[in-house]
Amino acid sequence: MEVLDYRAYKPKPFTKEERAKTTVLFGGLTWKHERLIQAMLENMGYRAQPLPEIRRIDLDIGKEFIDVGACCPTTFTAGNLARTLMEIEKKEGRQKVKDEYVFVTIGACGPCRFGQYHESYERVLEGLNLRDFRLFLLDLLQMEQSADGGGLEINTPLTLGLVYAMFIGDLLTDLEYATRPYEVKKGQTDQVLKDSVELLYERLKNRPIKGKKFGSFVWHLTTDYFVKALKEVKELWDHIEVDRLRIKPKVKITGEFWLQTHEGEGNYNIKRWLEQEGAEVIPPPIAVWMDYLINMELFKLEDKKEFIKFYHLKKAVVLFFAKLYRYTYDKLRKSLNNIPNPLPDQRTLKDLARPYFYYRLTGGEGHMLIGKALYAYKNRQAHMICELSPYGCLPNTMSVGAMAKVLGDYPDLLYAPIEIKGDAEVHALSRCQMILTEAKKRAREEFEEVLEKTGLSIEDIRNFELEKPELRKATYKIPHYGYAGTASNYVIHIAKLMGR
Ligand code: SF4
Repeated sequence: MEVLDYRAYKPKPFTKEERAKTTVLFGGLTWKHERLIQAMLENMGYRAQPLPEIRRIDLDIGKEFIDVGACCPTTFTAGNLARTLMEIEKKEGRQKVKDEYVFVTIGACGPCRFGQYHESYERVLEGLNLRDFRLFLLDLLQMEQSADGGGLEINTPLTLGLVYAMFIGDLLTDLEYATRPYEVKKGQTDQVLKDSVELLYERLKNRPIKGKKFGSFVWHLTTDYFVKALKEVKELWDHIEVDRLRIKPKVKITGEFWLQTHEGEGNYNIKRWLEQEGAEVIPPPIAVWMDYLINMELFKLEDKKEFIKFYHLKKAVVLFFAKLYRYTYDKLRKSLNNIPNPLPDQRTLKDLARPYFYYRLTGGEGHMLIGKALYAYKNRQAHMICELSPYGCLPNTMSVGAMAKVLGDYPDLLYAPIEIKGDAEVHALSRCQMILTEAKKRAREEFEEVLEKTGLSIEDIRNFELEKPELRKATYKIPHYGYAGTASNYVIHIAKLMGR
């Protein structure tokens, strides 16, 4: 019997000359983020196409190709890639798949399967007998890198453009979820959202490319190009009328990175489902995760302080980037009248989680799941936490285990850990519904308390709204007065405006 040696997959080169006729496939985020990333890739001269929306069938396809014990995000995304390649092959032929498409994904090292995604994708290529299809793995933390052949070049203008695309996608998503549950005209938020994404697609695609490394960095730091684009978007949202007196439990979504950001069949469309059940959802921005990675560099430096040469200088550099990151996010947030939530402070998350989860246990979202739950609870940001845990995910299993102790210390915290397997929808949603029922009760009690405290009636508020119609704009900012519910904060705000 012939013995074949193991050979690691090595993609064929992708050359600069091939760029014009080669489509870069990518995926894994929401349709909004992907459309904006597509714009940025096109801005840099690439043909780009996001993978199609994840469907339930991707899980079954994924299981056919990769290790059956793989976590559900890996299985879904590997299945999605397989389905895409099969569909392209059917339409355009096998040779074109190999010659005119490449797939780009990111990776990082770490104890979880995130560091092994490419292995699963390689199994897909093997299974499809497409080992000469080109698949490139990029390092998440490198500003400049290139794939073999130079056809794919991740340089400073592209990296910074992608960071802006991610920020803008996050901010729009926050705005969307803060608006849709309160919209007066059903469907208007989704329509305006689509228009906004298309407007931003055009703006990002036509971004001026100024400078290479340092020049590009300075331009992105000082330009108001993105702020202007978001101000145009705000004008579209100004026309959405909302009714913030609807009493809704606020549900903060946490969990594994892919599962919590995903919007679709990969997580039973749970965010939409929660809205249909009467909740307001706080979606998780992708930007928090990048902020976590930057700050982890800082924490690691601090841990080794005595052994590091030029410690203060190195710390100052990391701190500078950490602050710049938040400054940029906040600058963009301001263009949308600060309706999207600010990024949580990473040191606070770490300190909150510390008694339950050691921050050097990285993998998945690390200590952040505990930190975020406690942060939302202590700051009364949400009535309930819904943590999406993938089947077969070690980091999330650790976090859910540690949450048992957190709940022992804070029995009042409403926490719904939902295991997502892809094929147990009824079970998962009914678990979530049990906790949601209690969250609804709390939202109502809180609202009644606020009415009593302010002495206002619904009628008083409605009359006041007639005098000040701007209060019913989706872009009118209601400050947080220490209540989780939007309706409760709204009543307090009206009382303050009335001078009560
Ligand atoms: S964090 Fe969990 S679900 Fe996500 S890639 Fe790692 S093992 Fe898979």
